[in-house]
Amino acid sequence: MKSLWDDNEAAKYSGDLALRVYTSRLLGRDQSLVLHGGGNTSVKIAHRNVIGEEETVLYVKGSGWDLETIEEAGFAPVRLGHLLKLARLEALSDPLMVNELRTHTLRAAAPTPSVEAILHAVLPHKYVDHTHADAVLALCNSRNGQERIEEVYGDCAVIIPYVMPGFGLARLCAERFPAAAGKNTIGMVLLNHGIFSFGASAREAYERMIALVSRAEDYLVKHGAWNMAAPAAAEPAAVRREIAGLRRQVADAAGFPVLLNARGDARGLAFARRKDIRLLAQQGPATPDHVLRTKRVPLIGRDVAAYAAEYKKYFAENAARGAQPKAMLDPAPRVVLDPDLGLCAAGRSAREAVIVRDIYTHTMEIILRATVLGGYQALPAADVFDVEYWDLEQAKLKSGGKPPVFAGEVALVTGAASGIGRACVESLLARGAAVIGLDINPAVERLHQRPDFTGLACDITDADQLARALERGARAFGGLDMLILNAGVFPPGCRIEALATVEWDRVMRVNLDANLALLRE
Ligand SMILES: [Zn+2]
Repeated sequence: MKSLWDDNEAAKYSGDLALRVYTSRLLGRDQSLVLHGGGNTSVKIAHRNVIGEEETVLYVKGSGWDLETIEEAGFAPVRLGHLLKLARLEALSDPLMVNELRTHTLRAAAPTPSVEAILHAVLPHKYVDHTHADAVLALCNSRNGQERIEEVYGDCAVIIPYVMPGFGLARLCAERFPAAAGKNTIGMVLLNHGIFSFGASAREAYERMIALVSRAEDYLVKHGAWNMAAPAAAEPAAVRREIAGLRRQVADAAGFPVLLNARGDARGLAFARRKDIRLLAQQGPATPDHVLRTKRVPLIGRDVAAYAAEYKKYFAENAARGAQPKAMLDPAPRVVLDPDLGLCAAGRSAREAVIVRDIYTHTMEIILRATVLGGYQALPAADVFDVEYWDLEQAKLKSGGKPPVFAGEVALVTGAASGIGRACVESLLARGAAVIGLDINPAVERLHQRPDFTGLACDITDADQLARALERGARAFGGLDMLILNAGVFPPGCRIEALATVEWDRVMRVNLDANLALLRE
């Protein structure tokens, strides 16, 4: 792994917080370090407040921000002194901890500080970086994972056993870190979770992260567990009806409309076709954090009802351990591994489905690498359940707003590149639908660059072109719910005796026959 630090680029950022923004974005650029909102960073800055008192403030990533695109406003300034006092408490419930974080934040408009804020506070370094690096997770989740981590890091990193994120983890680190850190310590590994690095400057902390993750990568290379090239796998040609059938089943189990991202790729197909797929894929996620997106395990094949029954069993068994009653989430799978369809990812929006797909794509790589190292071993189901049904996550669900009216639904618009068709596309996107836009004009392909729009150049009077477009549309979103048959041609009027048969046929083909072909779908 290479450092992306660039002196010219860095020169555009002046001040401690600005440089914190810069190296956070560098971490965010590498998907093998952090994915979709994962990871967090902080910087400790001394300042004089409005009444002239000196105090040190921890600027920590706010929830809802992505490292790749974070700005100064994405960091929540929290009183460091108060965080250090909290770290000395024997116990603190997570909802109460979040309340303390919010009430000791110094900017009224700041986002809620990361739940890992206290952990950042107790590390006695100015800059602290935290990622869920793939290479580190591959080692943690392999047989004898802890020994491998110890071998790779020696006295460079303090190793903390797995504890779920929240106050308990911060408390454990506050206790263990000072006792275990020595003069060579530049980081901390949280087993089955991720890795921290720190330093006196933004550059030092960032480059130590790169150095630490590189060590794990070198270990994988040395043990033949780095290049996981997928064997070429032939994709079946026409699967749109199968995809649509699967999507319907997933939506029925979920109790709300879902999109299914089934953009076939060789990696997903090869993985789904492995003989040991059940053993590999039923272990659980690479880090419990992923459960919120992918659920604990994927569905293998297409028996959604059996998956839902298993999920209910898992919920009943684990919910019984807790003192508080829990509300069960929907029992539908988010990841499907099918030998014909490959990796399919379900989500309530196209963006959600893309996130699920990205996370599982990295998970497959981690599983394959750990398999080379003697076997993939994820955390027990109970630990994963605790994150999936964490108080803080349940509270978020209760406060979640209503989804837009067409969330999870797919609309197809013909003649989408201009005029009424184009306006329909915009209106449907604004109401939460995923949209497939067809047009004979190839400009339709560049109409919108966003995950919920697929523009396809297509002459709808050509049966083959239309079938290909529908196939691609089904791969993108999982099927069709609404048709906007807008494409039409209106040649200038003329007298009946002057109307050529070819012209008549052309108008009928575009305005009538093509619509029949689409309606048949
Ligand atoms: Zn983390």
